[in-house]
Amino acid sequence: MSNKYFGAHVSAAGGVENAPIRASEIEANAFALFTKNQRQWVAKPLTPESIRGFKENCIKFGFEPEQILPHDSYLINLGAPEEEKLEKSRNAFVDEMERCNQLGLTLLNFHPGSHLKKISEQECLAKIAESINLAHKAVPEVVAVIENTAGQGSNLGWKFEHLAEIIEQVEDKSRVGVCLDTCHTFAAGYDLRTKDACDATFAEFDRVVGMHYLRAMHLNDSKTKLAGKVDRHHSLGQGEIGWDCFEYIAQDSRFNAIPLILETIEPEIWKDEIQALRHLELKNT
Ligand SMILES: [Zn+2]
Ligand SMILES: [Zn+2]
Repeated sequence: MSNKYFGAHVSAAGGVENAPIRASEIEANAFALFTKNQRQWVAKPLTPESIRGFKENCIKFGFEPEQILPHDSYLINLGAPEEEKLEKSRNAFVDEMERCNQLGLTLLNFHPGSHLKKISEQECLAKIAESINLAHKAVPEVVAVIENTAGQGSNLGWKFEHLAEIIEQVEDKSRVGVCLDTCHTFAAGYDLRTKDACDATFAEFDRVVGMHYLRAMHLNDSKTKLAGKVDRHHSLGQGEIGWDCFEYIAQDSRFNAIPLILETIEPEIWKDEIQALRHLELKNT
């Protein structure tokens, strides 16, 4: 029996209610989705029909909230140096959290933010933490799941220390977590190419942040070399990371019962990638 939730970031085109159908078509038991257009600031509220359809399809295809990882809009910068942009981002983030809550979902995956070279790292991390605190007060239950980044440009969250510093300043620690993206982790400079390298990287994550904060993973190979600081996903086994890392995750119980989401570049092979991961999970049992 599988203890892992493997899935992919599926399209919500035509309405969020279509996402669980698409996830089921690729034989996933987890999925990620955008609950609104990820490149727009404002979206129409979810209709009652869409909300009902989403919940019905989740039941029909066997998806519980803990298997679903909504992702917020790319425009949001919760650490924005300028007051106006920060305000806009915070409002949009609350809206994202509200949409999750309406759909009965409990996780919201987001990219922490950028200092745009206008404020210090520390100030930016403090703004991100405060943004999370404000969202927690505005919306009940939903957990803010911070995604680590590749360290491109002035994006923070690529060092485990950044994640720890944000979490430290979040008041409700029960509603904050981390999503580690294997491509970002590797591009940021943490090696994942061998089992020993994975041991060392996750031990470092546990030491700095704490494994109990890990609420999700993005499983992506990387076109970028180790510590290349550029975010370029690749299909599993075809990039610089290689299969050992994905076998390690598939077989390690620390990654049980959290969404493990593909954002790899060929949706046509997601079904095969999921099957390969399941095969690796059950290989030695
Ligand atoms: Zn990701
Ligand atoms: Zn990425």
